[in-house]
Amino acid sequence: MKIKLILLAFTLSTLMGCSGLEKSEEKKVRTQNLVIAPIQRQSDEILFPFPPTSLKKRDPYRWETKRIGSHLRITKEFFRCRGSVLSPPIQILRQKDFIYHLDCGGIEMHSLPLKNGEEYIYPILINLLNFLQEKLDRKVVITCGHRCPVHNLYADPSKKGQVSKHLIGAEVDFYVEGLEQNPQVVLDTLFSYYNKPMLRTISLTDSSTPSWYNKEVGITLFHSTEGRDFDNDHSYPYISIQVRYDPETKRTVQYNWHRAHNGYMKH
Ligand SMILES: [Zn+2]
Repeated sequence: MKIKLILLAFTLSTLMGCSGLEKSEEKKVRTQNLVIAPIQRQSDEILFPFPPTSLKKRDPYRWETKRIGSHLRITKEFFRCRGSVLSPPIQILRQKDFIYHLDCGGIEMHSLPLKNGEEYIYPILINLLNFLQEKLDRKVVITCGHRCPVHNLYADPSKKGQVSKHLIGAEVDFYVEGLEQNPQVVLDTLFSYYNKPMLRTISLTDSSTPSWYNKEVGITLFHSTEGRDFDNDHSYPYISIQVRYDPETKRTVQYNWHRAHNGYMKH
């Protein structure tokens, strides 16, 4: 037993001795390799205090909220074609002959206009309508967003109507609930979206009031007896906004037959 203890003590002292030797060797190497270099700092570099550890939950971005105030946030869904299988056939004059024309089947039948394979409505229209809902705290009622060629012909068989920007998702007709008879308030709010005052021009469509415009959009007011068609079959004045310029592509936005007739998907 005694021998065993002595042996253990010897082994331990050897191990400790060995590890002590290693440590001093390490220290020597470290000292040899040590390079002292000054810390470089930019003259405008400053130290910031640490932010508080409990992180504040950020407010949701506008596009994350389903509602703006007490109203549903407007999305491209609100712009879907209003065609319906329930609409009765109409008679239209085509090359001196009256022909029967049926309405389109609406959202069951086709998509919104497509851009890069995705359904697309010019964002400025969506932004302006949400801006109105937020500022006025009233609901915007879209009466006409996208119109496919079939529904467009059904709703407005006039020649002018056939080159409407509704066909390419670049025009919207609407009124504001509670301000049906006071569209001037809505117009003034729309103008306030832009920093510069709008210019005036002769009406862009068939209305007695000159339209307002800037580089990006044109705005037209239709009085209660003007601009009536199948989609705007109500007794209120309404406002129409059409896109004139796309800041994303830096191009003017114009009616285009190919986009109107082939730029959407038929189901
Ligand atoms: Zn349609």
